[in-house]
Amino acid sequence: MPSTAVRADNLITALISRVEPTYAYLTRGRDSITLDRYYRHPQPGRQARPNTSMSSYPVYNVNIISDTVLPTPREVMTRLPLTEALQERIVQYRIDLQRILERQDPRLFVVVGPCSIHDPKSALEYAGRLARLAERVSDTMLLVMRVYFEKPRTVSGWKGLINDPYLDDSFHIEDGLHLARKLLLDLAELGLPVGTEALDPITPQYIGDLIAWAAIGARTTESQTHREMTSGLSAPVAFKNGTDGNVEVAINAVRSAALPHRFLGINADGQCSVFHTRGNRYGHVVLRGGTRPNYDPESIAACEARLAKAGLRPNIVVDCSHGNSSKDPSRQPLVFRDCIEQVVAGTTSIVGLMLESHLFAGRQDIPADLTQLRYGVSVTDGCIDWDTTEELILSAHQRLSEGPLSVGRTEELVAG
Ligand code: PEP
Ligand code: MN
Repeated sequence: MPSTAVRADNLITALISRVEPTYAYLTRGRDSITLDRYYRHPQPGRQARPNTSMSSYPVYNVNIISDTVLPTPREVMTRLPLTEALQERIVQYRIDLQRILERQDPRLFVVVGPCSIHDPKSALEYAGRLARLAERVSDTMLLVMRVYFEKPRTVSGWKGLINDPYLDDSFHIEDGLHLARKLLLDLAELGLPVGTEALDPITPQYIGDLIAWAAIGARTTESQTHREMTSGLSAPVAFKNGTDGNVEVAINAVRSAALPHRFLGINADGQCSVFHTRGNRYGHVVLRGGTRPNYDPESIAACEARLAKAGLRPNIVVDCSHGNSSKDPSRQPLVFRDCIEQVVAGTTSIVGLMLESHLFAGRQDIPADLTQLRYGVSVTDGCIDWDTTEELILSAHQRLSEGPLSVGRTEELVAG
């Protein structure tokens, strides 16, 4: 009987060999190899229909150049189905996270992975390493892989793998949706819970069944559309504080998303629908810093007090990147260690941490010539490298395994 590590190694090798053609495409250009080879499901070609208004006084869709009909969520899910065994796993990941948020489980969860996914091969290689690490630290931490397909931009830039899977402004969103779903299935098979940013309100219909945790970003926390969407999402969802550091907007978002809403969306058959939601009971807050960091004990205590005033559970995730690292990835370990020490010292409101990490450190601009793309290096925010990530998580595991933490959190569990 092969050991778990050997089985994980075999699985990752098999997954990576399946994904090789896609990665080869990324390095060779679209004409040589297409995603069809990855899926082995030829996609029907869909043409953009030009917007041709017959009226002399156009008043409708004035700024729409064309539209392209996509396969429905049900069609994509049928093409790339989630097996019952994997469904059971995803439900279990969500329950694990819910138990942490309800203080029935004293572990921390750590959302860790690249700022954005831009090629499946490096994502799978990263996932293989993370899955092995997750097993080693599973008694103190639940590791969730950051798998971000949608990137909100301050002004402009590459908006993620779903929007532009070929990184060349060709915007093959249909391929992007398939590629994202395929990768999520592969990650589920590897045994990793996945966290993502929910940005486009239609995307969850295509991939939401594969997600264990979601974040609403700093730029959209205040958006009613995102609060409504969250009220209907199936996984626990975190709201980030605003880019200026405003935490109140995230607290208002958690309150709003916990309520039932009625709003417009598309159903699995692609029909425009009115959704009536239950409300998401597992909303929580992410402190990501703003004009200054907000992971220090005073900021944590202030956030706890505001959550208590709003009648919410004191559940805080600290994002060690973005405003908390002043956008300098090499500062992330400092923030991470500081938060672990706060937890060890008895701060029970910190339930989760987030790290932006990839195989290799730093970031790169997307080159016009994709053969120049460096493998395993972020194309959005700068990341820490794998060795630093592993060392950080193992030393946190060591600290959290030492007596006082478990006693402190267990006492709270018993008292609570
Ligand atoms: C991110 O998580 O990469 C991100 C864009 O975060 P934020 O919304 O906090 O800026
Ligand atoms: Mn980022």
